[in-house]
Parts: sequence; C-alpha cells; structure tokens
Amino acid sequence: MIPYGRQNINDDDIAAVVETLKSNYLTQGPKVPAFEQALCHYTNANYAFATNSATSALHIACMALGVSDGDIVWTSPISFVASANCALYCGASIDFIDIDLNTGNISIEHLAEMLILAEQNNTLPKVIIPVHLAGQSCDMKAIAQLCEPYNIHIIEDASHAIGGEYNGNKIGACQYSDISIFSFHPVKIITSAEGGMALTNNTCLAEKLDRLRSHGITRDINQMKGLTDGPWYYQQVELGYNYRMTELQAALGLSQLKNLDNFVALRNEKAAVYLEKLKKLPLNMLEVSNNSLCAYHLFIIQLQDTQKHKKVFEALRKSGIGVNLHYIPIPSQPYYQSLGYTFSEIPMAEKYYQGAISLPLFPDLTVDEQKYIIETLGTILK
Ligand SMILES: *Cc1c(COP(=O)(O)O)cnc(C)c1O
Repeated sequence: MIPYGRQNINDDDIAAVVETLKSNYLTQGPKVPAFEQALCHYTNANYAFATNSATSALHIACMALGVSDGDIVWTSPISFVASANCALYCGASIDFIDIDLNTGNISIEHLAEMLILAEQNNTLPKVIIPVHLAGQSCDMKAIAQLCEPYNIHIIEDASHAIGGEYNGNKIGACQYSDISIFSFHPVKIITSAEGGMALTNNTCLAEKLDRLRSHGITRDINQMKGLTDGPWYYQQVELGYNYRMTELQAALGLSQLKNLDNFVALRNEKAAVYLEKLKKLPLNMLEVSNNSLCAYHLFIIQLQDTQKHKKVFEALRKSGIGVNLHYIPIPSQPYYQSLGYTFSEIPMAEKYYQGAISLPLFPDLTVDEQKYIIETLGTILK
C-alpha cells in the first residue's frame, strides 16, 4: 500500500538522536531551546515554545489567551478534532465557521456573517482558530481585519503548514495572529515523532506559554509573587501541565528542519504533477492563491459525482493506494453530536465531506508510484 503520507528520516536525523541519547540530557538540555531558536529564526517569530504535541500547544495557547468557562471559540469544521477540543479543555464552547469549497479553509464571507449575528446575540467568540488546510494559509489579513473591531484573538492552527508562506512571510510569523501552532507528528511536513510548537511575538503571551507547558512553574524572579527564598527557588504561580518536549524529540526536529525547504519543494513538485495530470478528470482540486506558498501536507481532490465517493475510495484502496479523508467534519463526530452539534449552518463543510479524498503525497513518493496513482484514478473514474 502506498501510504497517503510518510516521514522521511535520514542518517543525520538518526545520528542526531543517538548523539543526544549519549549526552547528559534526555529532557531540558540544550536541544529544546536550540530547536525553538531555529524556528524563531526560520519563521521570524519572536518566541517559540516546544511542546509534546500540537494538541498540547493548542491547549496552552487557548489558556494563555484566557479562554475559560463560558467563553466561545470558533474554528473550522474541516480539521482534526484537536482544533476544537482545545477550547473544550478550557471549559469554553466551540462553534464552527463554514468553509470555502475552493480552498477548504474557513470562508471569509461566512465569518463576516457570523460576526454580525454574534454581535447582535451577544455571542462573540474570545478566540478564533483558523486552520491552514493542506498547508495553505487562510486569508489571515481578511480574518484579522474582521476580528480586530471585536478584539477577538487569533490562533493559527498551522499544523499542516510549516514551510509555507503567506503574503511574503513564513507561516508562523504571527503577522496577523496572536499565536501560531505547528505539529511534528510523523505525517506532517517535518517530524519529532510526537511534538508541537507555539510561536508568538507577544512577550506577555510568551511568558504564559512557557509556564503553562511546565506545571505553571517559573524561575524568573520578575514572574514571582514576593521575594525569592534563594538560588534553589521556583514558584508555581498558576495551574499548568507537563507538556514539555524531550531532548530526543528536539534533536530529531532540529535535524529535520535542515530539510524543511527541500521537503516543501518536493511536495510542491509532486502537487504540480497532480494538478497537471488530473485536470481533465471529473474532480476539483484545492486552489492555491498566488500570494501563498502551500506546504502541501495533503493533496486533496473533490469528486464531482459525490454518488461515486465511497466506490472510488474503496477502489483506490483495493489498488494499493492508501487514500484517506481529511477530514470527517468535527461536528459530525459522535462526541460533538452528543453536545448537540448539527450541519445546518455549515452546508459547504458537509458538501466537502461528500467528495473529498486525500491522495498520497510525501517527499519520497516516486515518479512511478505517482504515475500509477494518476493512471489508476483515471481508470476508476472512467
Ligand atoms: C495533526 C493536527 C493536530 C494535532 O497535532 P498533534 O501534534 O498530533 O497533537 C492539530 N490540528 C491539525 C489541523 C492537525 O492536522
């Protein structure tokens, strides 16, 4: 089976992890801050905090922005469940913004409508979490402009998008957001096995993110209440978690980062082949706007004849092509159904789900494998 995604681990990556295993530090040594610094340098964000997953990073991002009981958070229904769960962890409720079928990202028009309604009903969100589906940035400038009058905070779920660009900036630069989140799960663009990162330009948020990923503890005198008892002293000033990344993970992530631009270039080359060779088939492909560099975590097609969706999907799997579906709309998950969510206000997300298939795309996908995928899909759709 050709998988839909696969990590690329080279000898340097392995050597970096082995070297760290032999070092004095397995946790909280030099590699974690080195990885964070390297990502600040790469994205141009001021601060970066490594976590044990993007899910953890999303959780502490919500906490740092003060999301709590009674608050409302908005995100995309077409995302991994973690984009929504993070709000629920904080006791907030979540609502979903419908998507734009052309990109799979949240619809700016629907967001504008929802904001007007929410203002009338006194149900404005505290935070919105745009998700950069498949690695293409949402229209962050438009989102920031819409949210600004209401003082709504923005967390970019850039789990798919490290290495991508928007309006000439690297995704993660936080030009139009408070915090950006990356994931280093093995299917993502670069990996640290499990791992995530929260980036920000805001000093106050940075302090909170740093504390919240480590029990709410600080060793910085300026963040303490009262005076320090001595050089051994630390204080827990709020309730945080153990969400720290290990040295082994950071060593792997740091080594992978060297290949990031190469991975994104390879993904773009292969995406360009799909875009060219599939354009005559009865399917749509996500559009990438010309102010974007898509990191191409995923290559998603939309079948025009949704009646054939399941059959085509099954036939591809039977042919050894490990297609997948990103994503089952979050509000349709049984847990969210039990909370009373429906599709009534997000018709485009439902429509998207009825036709979407993710084709294999990863740096090591061979020319022959891709040719086979394209030919097989052509035959199945005939
Ligand atoms: C993968 C993913 C996450 C969660 O990442 P983990 O590192 O596995 O916790 C969150 N949001 C989106 C959009 C993702 O694709």
